[in-house]
Amino acid sequence: MRFSCEPLTLRTRHVFAISRGASDTFGGAIVHLEHDGITGIGEAAPSPFYGENQSTVLAVLGVLKQDVPDDPFLMDEAHDRLEKRIRGNPAAKAAIDIALHDLVCKRLGLPLYRFFGLSPERALTTSFTIGIDEIDVMKQNAVEASEFPILKIKVGTDRDEFVLDAIRSVTNRTLRVDANCAWTAREAVQKIARLEKFGIEFVEQPIAPGDPDGLRFVRENASVPIIADESVKTSIDIERLIGAVDGINIKLMKCGGLYEAVKMIHTARALGMKVMLGCMVESSVGITAAAHLSPAADYADLDGNLLLAEDPFSGVKVKQGKLLLPSEPGLGVKGPGSQR
Ligand code: MG
Repeated sequence: MRFSCEPLTLRTRHVFAISRGASDTFGGAIVHLEHDGITGIGEAAPSPFYGENQSTVLAVLGVLKQDVPDDPFLMDEAHDRLEKRIRGNPAAKAAIDIALHDLVCKRLGLPLYRFFGLSPERALTTSFTIGIDEIDVMKQNAVEASEFPILKIKVGTDRDEFVLDAIRSVTNRTLRVDANCAWTAREAVQKIARLEKFGIEFVEQPIAPGDPDGLRFVRENASVPIIADESVKTSIDIERLIGAVDGINIKLMKCGGLYEAVKMIHTARALGMKVMLGCMVESSVGITAAAHLSPAADYADLDGNLLLAEDPFSGVKVKQGKLLLPSEPGLGVKGPGSQR
């Protein structure tokens, strides 16, 4: 198996802001794995919130390359080895995991969704995210995203009610809300009570992680479903959220890739929870990998590539928000160095 990786720096069209910060530059990495003349591609889109950045990803990939198995079909063994070598660093691991899946599916001649036994017709409609900005700008961004039937509004400022009011005044589309840990549990209950009149499908991560009782308090006192994002990284985290949330947001860059994401989907289902698939700011490599799993989820928020000024890759397409999965073997991603 030949391993190579290179930095990938992405820029968003506009500065992208959530409740804890803003940026327009996102550094990650691309991994290529080549075996018997076939090349798989994967992406790491690290988040500083989970302790990673472009430098850590490149350093960790330099260590983990020795653990990539010679037989790409040995996924279970590969993940064992990666976990034993180094804890955490999920985005770096996701790059290897995604490249292994791409490689295996190309070898089998199957698109990734078929490898998972999923139908592309059941792929979901993704939301489009409206980042925090001046109210008029957020309203304008909502109008400009008219192609998307679902909007996800980032909240967590003292203007949230005005923001929702302004956006609701120009659209009757489905609105979801993401507070990115901005509130205390008591605040969350008050804020949600003021926002629910705008017709909200659910609220994502109202409070800081590490407080399942706080989430349970919010859920019991809010009339809108609560989805955990920052509170759940891998399948291990799900059990302690039983009864505390209605569903979980799975991201390849939090959990370490597709292998763990599938485990999380099954775990959540077994516990009666809804499944959302989310993303970081990513190129079409990472987004397409997650999109192939979307037929197995309830909600998709896979718009990280749509926020980019320029995406060096192409893969999943979006038509009126609906994810159109590529039918070529593997991820079906095209771009520099992605050919077999
Ligand atoms: Mg979120």
